Amino acid sequence: MKKWQIYKIYGTDYTEMTKELLKRAKLKKRIPHKNCRIGIKPNLISPTEACRGATTHPEIVAGIIEYLQERGFFNLVMLEGSWIGARTSEAVKVCGYESLSQRYGVPFIDTQQDEAVRCDCAGMPIEICRSAREVEFLINVPVLKGHCQTNMTCALKNLKGLIPNSEKSRFHTLGLHEPIAHLAAGLTQHFIVVDHICGDLEFEEGGNPVTTNCVMAARDPVLCDTYGCRLLGLKKGDVPYIGIAESLGVGASRLKKEAILELEWNSAGEKKKQPKEKLSGKQRKKEQLKNLKTLVQESKACSACYSNLMNALMRLEQEGMTRNIEKGSICIGQGFRKKTGKLGVGSCTKNFDRCQKGCPPSAEKIYSFLKKEYQKV
Ligand code: SF4
Repeated sequence: MKKWQIYKIYGTDYTEMTKELLKRAKLKKRIPHKNCRIGIKPNLISPTEACRGATTHPEIVAGIIEYLQERGFFNLVMLEGSWIGARTSEAVKVCGYESLSQRYGVPFIDTQQDEAVRCDCAGMPIEICRSAREVEFLINVPVLKGHCQTNMTCALKNLKGLIPNSEKSRFHTLGLHEPIAHLAAGLTQHFIVVDHICGDLEFEEGGNPVTTNCVMAARDPVLCDTYGCRLLGLKKGDVPYIGIAESLGVGASRLKKEAILELEWNSAGEKKKQPKEKLSGKQRKKEQLKNLKTLVQESKACSACYSNLMNALMRLEQEGMTRNIEKGSICIGQGFRKKTGKLGVGSCTKNFDRCQKGCPPSAEKIYSFLKKEYQKV
């Protein structure tokens, strides 16, 4: 597979189709030597099963491991750190990675527990977990899904799980896009396997999965994310970190006409190709989120905090409670630290008149807090 290409395969036997995809992409030829330390980086943002559209299907990672072990590559490790507010160890259990680790004898490193090394990432110093630096060949296995702050997340942003929590918070104070692009410049991903099975098209925490039953392979994260935008109905410009990464030399976004290759899949009972996903309801959901965002004043909020707030607001919307909330009246984010105001969410707004503390506060707590507040209105 060339760097300017993206391979796709459709089916429901995720392990076997991933193995077929890697075979056709000739992954083994890209790995420098048999004892190479290979890191596999899924997306385990939170303890949520993959069918909800937020985390990487373990069957895909099983396919990667089987493909590699069958070809004599045994120096493998899985590594990931959940987002702030969630424990990786819990996500590893819930998402099926503990049993994967035992079944294949591949250790799982929780990067939330790892020490960090300060690295120069194209002119920006960034703390990166030591275990990620020690990997010689990194296989990134992101979920293609929407993101309530950056619009989408795929190959480039998935590397954020390889930095410590303190650095994740700092990324938000820097506006996310610049540091995400710089991280991609400082930490090479050598191969990408995209879980495009049922990502939530709006929300990184999942809940509204849209089934496509597709797995993709790519070598260039900029190209991969540019194509991901297209699949989500976005333009490259809607996700600024892609353009920044390209300007830093991480990859090239130009999608040639012949770049996308849909592989035929002949496993018994599998269709060659699945029809494209039905996006009915997607537009409605997009509009709903857009409207809910107008109720919030956000400044450098961490993903988990913001996402929990959106979850709570969606619940309130279903109950018809959001009509009592004035536009821009809920403040959230590190930009409000040491500031005063009326109503805030998260400990960063603890000096506000009314605040739901927590770092991050759970969606449940925010929901109860806002419900009480706006029932008074
Ligand atoms: S309270 Fe502030 S630091 Fe904590 S998760 Fe929310 S935005 Fe981030």
